Amino acid sequence: MENCIFCKIIKGEIPCSKVYEDDKVLAFNDINPEAPVHVLIVPKTHVQSVMDINADDCQLISHVFYVASKIAEELKISEKGFRIVNNVGENGGQTVSHIHFHLLGGRLLQWPPG
Ligand code: AMP
Ligand code: ZN
Repeated sequence: MENCIFCKIIKGEIPCSKVYEDDKVLAFNDINPEAPVHVLIVPKTHVQSVMDINADDCQLISHVFYVASKIAEELKISEKGFRIVNNVGENGGQTVSHIHFHLLGGRLLQWPPG
């Protein structure tokens, strides 16, 4: 999608600090980390948000969670625990309109979020 920052990162037009890549997803470090580990897992196809997922995307979304578990293991946060966050729309705090999942860890995370 034109003018989508995450599509540009996926195409290599904007650099990122890559953590993981396969044919379906790209994962990279968040530019403004909120925790010692803050990775964004981004499907390569431009889906705006959870509200735009269709039946064909279901495998892709479960793949994101599988990848999250592998990255958590690799970054050694799986034993102590971590959080996977997906923000939707204005009230959800979504600032980039390309679906993505935050993988946060490396410190005790508060609950409930603000
Ligand atoms: P959200 O607010 O849930 O839409 O999350 C968007 C996230 O993307 C924020 O945590 C930003 O810090 C992050 N972000 C924005 N631009 C970049 C970029 N160029 N590289 C890495 N992370 C970014
Ligand atoms: Zn996009």
